[in-house]
Amino acid sequence: MTMIKAFINYAQDLYQTREFIPLHAPSFQGNERFYVVDTIDSTFVSSVGKYVDQFESSIEEFTSANKAVATVNGTAALHAALFMAGVGARDLVITQALTFVATCNAISHLGAEPLFVDISKKSLGLCPESTEAFLIENAFINDDGYCIHRQTNRHIRALVPMHTFGHPVELDEITELCSRWNIILIEDSAESLGSYYKGQHTGTFGRFGVLSFNGNKVITTGGGGMILCQDNADGIHAKHITTTAKKPHAYEFFHDELGFNYRMPNINAALGCAQMESLQLFLDKKRELADCYSQFFAGSEFKFVEEPGYAKSNYWLNAVICESSRARDNFLKETNENGVMTRPVWQLMNRLPMFSGCIKNDLPVSEYIEGTLVNIPSSPIINEPVIK
Ligand SMILES: *Cc1c(COP(=O)(O)O)cnc(C)c1O
Repeated sequence: MTMIKAFINYAQDLYQTREFIPLHAPSFQGNERFYVVDTIDSTFVSSVGKYVDQFESSIEEFTSANKAVATVNGTAALHAALFMAGVGARDLVITQALTFVATCNAISHLGAEPLFVDISKKSLGLCPESTEAFLIENAFINDDGYCIHRQTNRHIRALVPMHTFGHPVELDEITELCSRWNIILIEDSAESLGSYYKGQHTGTFGRFGVLSFNGNKVITTGGGGMILCQDNADGIHAKHITTTAKKPHAYEFFHDELGFNYRMPNINAALGCAQMESLQLFLDKKRELADCYSQFFAGSEFKFVEEPGYAKSNYWLNAVICESSRARDNFLKETNENGVMTRPVWQLMNRLPMFSGCIKNDLPVSEYIEGTLVNIPSSPIINEPVIK
C-alpha cells in the first residue's frame, strides 16, 4: 500500500468515519446553545451586553494579556491595531510573504504597503535573519530615530509576524530586532490562541496582538476577533475607537476622533464564552492528534511539521512537507478524491495582483514551503460530551 492510501485509511480510522473529513470543523458541545438563546431572551444581541465583557475577561485571563478588546473579526482587529500604531499613508510594514491575505489587506487599507521577508524553517513564520539582512542592506535610522527604507525614503513603521498554523515565531530575536530598529511589533496571532513561546502566550510580546475567532479557528464566535494590548492606555483607546469613538453620555452624541464600528456583538460573544469553557479540551485533543500524525509519518517521505523546540504550539492546522511539488500534487489529488480534505498552503502574497509590486527580500524558504506543504485534517476528536 502506498503511503497516501495508508494515510487515507489512518485519517478515516482516527475520525471513525468513511464520510467526508473536513480540514477543521467547529465543535459545539457545551453551553453554546444556552448562552446564545440567553442573549435572544434578554434582547441584548448587539454591541452592548454582559457576554462581550465576560469574553474579554476570559481571554485576558487565559492569555495574561493586559487588556483584550473584542472585535467583529480578526481582520478588523488587525486594522484597528495598525491604525493605533500610527501606520498610515506611504508607510511600510514588514511581514512574511507566506501568510493569509488578511494581514496584508489590513496594512493596505491604511494606505501603507506590506514589505515581504522570508519565513524561517524552524517556525514557518517571519524569519528574523531574513529581516535583519534586509534592514542592514536597505534601511537606516534617521535623525528622528525612525527606520527609513533607503531607496524610497519611506518609514518602516511596524513589523507583523504571523504564527503560522499556531507555531510561534522566534520572538526573542524578533523583539530584539524591533527595538534595535525602532519598529513597532504587532503579532498576527489569529491562528495561535493556546500557543506559547517559552511559556508566555503568543500575542502578548508586541505592543498589540490580534486573535481571530472565525469558524475555522481553534475556537469560534461565528465571526470575531480580539485586540490584545500590553499597555493600559492602548487598551482604553482600542475599546474607544472600535466603538465609534463616542464619548460616554446618557443621550448626547459626541465622537472625539475618527472611529470604527468594530465591536463584537453580544450574540457572538455568547458563543465565545461557551467555547472558552472547552478551549483547554480542544487544545489537549489537538495535541493528541498531532502526536498520532507525528508517529504515523515518522520515517516516511512526508515530513510532519512539529512545533519549534522553544514553543508549545496549539497545532491549529497540522501539516506535512512533501518531497517535491509533484508529490504534493499527488497527495492533494488522492486524499481529496477519497473524502479526506487536504489543502495546499496560501499562495505567496507577492504573487497576488494587488501586492505584486511590493518591496521584498529573497524568499527561498517561502517558495519551497509554498510548493511542498499540505494541511491535513485537524479538528479535535472529541468522543465524550462536554456539557458542564
Ligand atoms: C484567520 C486569520 C486572520 C483573521 O481572519 P478573520 O476571518 O478576519 O477573523 C488574520 N490573519 C491570519 C493569518 C489568519 O489566519
